[in-house]
Amino acid sequence: MDPLNSKNDGIHPETTLEFSMNQPIESDMRCPRCQRALLPRAVHDVEVNGCDGCGGLFVRRGELNRVAEPTDGDLEFSTLDHESFQHEDLNPPTDCLECPGSRMHKVEFNIYTGIILDHCERCGGFWLDGPELERINAEVRRLNEQSADQRSPAMLWFAQFIWNLPR
Ligand SMILES: [Zn+2]
Ligand SMILES: [Zn+2]
Repeated sequence: MDPLNSKNDGIHPETTLEFSMNQPIESDMRCPRCQRALLPRAVHDVEVNGCDGCGGLFVRRGELNRVAEPTDGDLEFSTLDHESFQHEDLNPPTDCLECPGSRMHKVEFNIYTGIILDHCERCGGFWLDGPELERINAEVRRLNEQSADQRSPAMLWFAQFIWNLPR
């Protein structure tokens, strides 16, 4: 055995991959709208995958509550509870980015908001199109203000229904 060669056994510096820290590593997910590879990004300290082209976001189960504005309500619950309608949306249905072959369902954020999200029943993930997180945040702010000065019993009941608050 040649001692000059054996000292490098197991170490191959020439094959070490170098990742530039300025170049975010693309995720395996493709944007369903513009087909770009999604890039990881932090929203309220939650790492999600987003599209630089259209601003869309894929959030996993439980993450919708964390990427949106803080509120006492459970956003995922209020979106999915009793959800059985087929909602019209500008964007066509898409397969889940995480579960190939699983068609996502159109669900409405809260009720009567007209904010239609794509939801995967298999993994519980949501696809949010470009402007939808901003629209959700605007709705959350509005509802937070309303619940801050709840006076009428009817409005209180309504808020409890929406937010599944303890009675
Ligand atoms: Zn996109
Ligand atoms: Zn899925």
